[in-house]
Amino acid sequence: MNYQAYMIKYAEIGTKGKNRYVFEDILCKNIRNRLRSVGDYTVTKEYGRIYVTPEGEHDYEDTIAALKTVFGIVGICPVVISADTSFDSIKERAIAFVGEAYSDKKKTFKVNAKRVNKQYPMSSMEMNADLGEALLEAYSELKVDVHDPDIMLQVEVRNEIYIYSLTIPGPGGLPIGTNGKAMLLLSGGIDSPVAGYMISKRGVGLSATYFHAPPYTSDRAKQKVVDLAKCVARYSGNIRLHVVNFTDIQMAIYKNCPHDELTIIMRRYMMKIAEELAKKDECQALITGESIGQVASQTMQSLTVTNAVCTMPVFRPCIGMDKQEIVELSEKIDTYETSILPYEDCCTIFVAKHPVTKPKLEAIEKSEKLLEGIIEPLYEEALNTVELIHVRA
Ligand code: ATP
Ligand code: MG
Repeated sequence: MNYQAYMIKYAEIGTKGKNRYVFEDILCKNIRNRLRSVGDYTVTKEYGRIYVTPEGEHDYEDTIAALKTVFGIVGICPVVISADTSFDSIKERAIAFVGEAYSDKKKTFKVNAKRVNKQYPMSSMEMNADLGEALLEAYSELKVDVHDPDIMLQVEVRNEIYIYSLTIPGPGGLPIGTNGKAMLLLSGGIDSPVAGYMISKRGVGLSATYFHAPPYTSDRAKQKVVDLAKCVARYSGNIRLHVVNFTDIQMAIYKNCPHDELTIIMRRYMMKIAEELAKKDECQALITGESIGQVASQTMQSLTVTNAVCTMPVFRPCIGMDKQEIVELSEKIDTYETSILPYEDCCTIFVAKHPVTKPKLEAIEKSEKLLEGIIEPLYEEALNTVELIHVRA
């Protein structure tokens, strides 16, 4: 089937009142950026719709796959466009469309004609009836079903004629760049890439921070995080990935603090550092993959104690999800296979056999006093030696 263009349907951005055009323009820009590596297209906005028109040869599957990663798109309709608006030509086009798009004609159908150009000499009702009849004549196996048809043939009369029947679902959400930017604490696990995807779906651009602990965590563990960032960037756009060398801080905590509190103290330092990097990167919030009760560091008490070091809002979109639900989403966004590669994470190197599950803030702050005079230069050093990796969409 040779489609001339892809009509883009978007829902939520249509409700933004006077700002609507801003959202539409950002969506157009994001579509252009996303398609740049796929081929040559023009992206235009007309009559409250967006059209993506390939210039010359293009690959249908690649185009659809790319559009399915652009937040704000609800549906993708491949359309056939014809400049001849005479009814005879429309009839011919409609018959050819069904002929090419559906090899098996044992189907029910309905024609839904719409006139944007109200000058057109036939009413929509007349067009529906005449086109329906013409299709029944052309293909004897077709049957009409006006309630639940297999094929809903859309025929739109504008300055040209648009015919389509397919609406391929898009990812939904809001266009990236319409809701600021947030800093994702990205580990090599299953949860944090999903958390990044979920927040960026609401139009939020992403930066990321990864805590690396060489030689305890390997280059392969770091590469895994870069690969995960790449997967998320297909949706969120480019990600500035900050790799923090966390070894010395972890060692200092290990040497000086009670071992059952290691993880919680370490998590507080992670949040503090991520927040500093977030401010520098003009992010307005932090994102983690935490989920209530998943591990000792994610009990209500642990989350409260971890959260106490943050001044920015911390978004935890997986907070109420079961592991299986998070896994399903990670499969959908293609991060699962990478996430389960068995490389070590810095959180798992210095874990206590029996970590506290109900930490008290005062007790943890008291233990952190043991780090005074030791941790400050290490903290500065960690911030000064951040490696910045530009992860492209
Ligand atoms: P994930 O599957 O996302 O790794 P998890 O179930 O392993 O999560 P934790 O290890 O307790 O849980 O981590 C909780 C959250 O803290 C992660 O979702 C992530 O946002 C952040 N985090 C943990 N380790 C790191 C790290 N090495 N670098 C950056 N962020 C991290
Ligand atoms: Mg983890």
